[in-house]
Amino acid sequence: MLDADFFRRWMAAATASVDREAERLTDLDSAIGDADHGSNLQRGFRAVATALEKDAPDTPGAVLTLAGRQLISTVGGASGPLYGTLLRRTGKALGDASEVDTAQLAEALRAGVDGVMALGGAAPGDKTMIDALLPAVDALGDGFAAARAAAEQGAEATIPLQARKGRASYLGERSIGHQDPGATSSALLIATLEEAAEG
Ligand code: ADP
Ligand code: MG
Ligand code: MG
Repeated sequence: MLDADFFRRWMAAATASVDREAERLTDLDSAIGDADHGSNLQRGFRAVATALEKDAPDTPGAVLTLAGRQLISTVGGASGPLYGTLLRRTGKALGDASEVDTAQLAEALRAGVDGVMALGGAAPGDKTMIDALLPAVDALGDGFAAARAAAEQGAEATIPLQARKGRASYLGERSIGHQDPGATSSALLIATLEEAAEG
């Protein structure tokens, strides 16, 4: 079972991963965006880490809703409200249970991804974070390692796609041939579930 501690470890691991990979995320965004995706998420997840240290919410749902609120209020770019919605919706769907299992997490994350699609209007194949998140949610029933592999594959599969949402869509065909920064950071977020599970 996954308790509030697990979700705090997940957010801490995500913060560390975003810190390590910020430059790579910003480089990807410089090719098809405005070169701020790494710094956007770094600012957001550092705020998440600070808020969780101060507040230590005691249910999985409360950890994720607090994290989502922080992302929405500290990240100016498109990714802030989108990732914020992902975590807030997922947290809401987990309710006030003190522990959840992987199947419940998968179901809640699906609600979170639905929230992102409703807010941003992106469908699978539009070259966004959805292309990593949706395959990850589909694979989560087979475990965290399967979800990680699916997210990484989904992120790589954005390379030949033409962007239809967000800044990259302004480039039209010139967005082809580059990996989407948001799909890449989504794969990092999913990969850190495995780290959190290892303790
Ligand atoms: P901005 O584009 O405002 O500078 P970021 O660089 O932080 O924001 O985030 C860009 C990423 O956000 C993209 O790579 C893409 O994955 C994601 N994104 C942008 N618009 C949408 C959308 N409408 N739906 C889903 N994801 C989106
Ligand atoms: Mg950007
Ligand atoms: Mg920007």
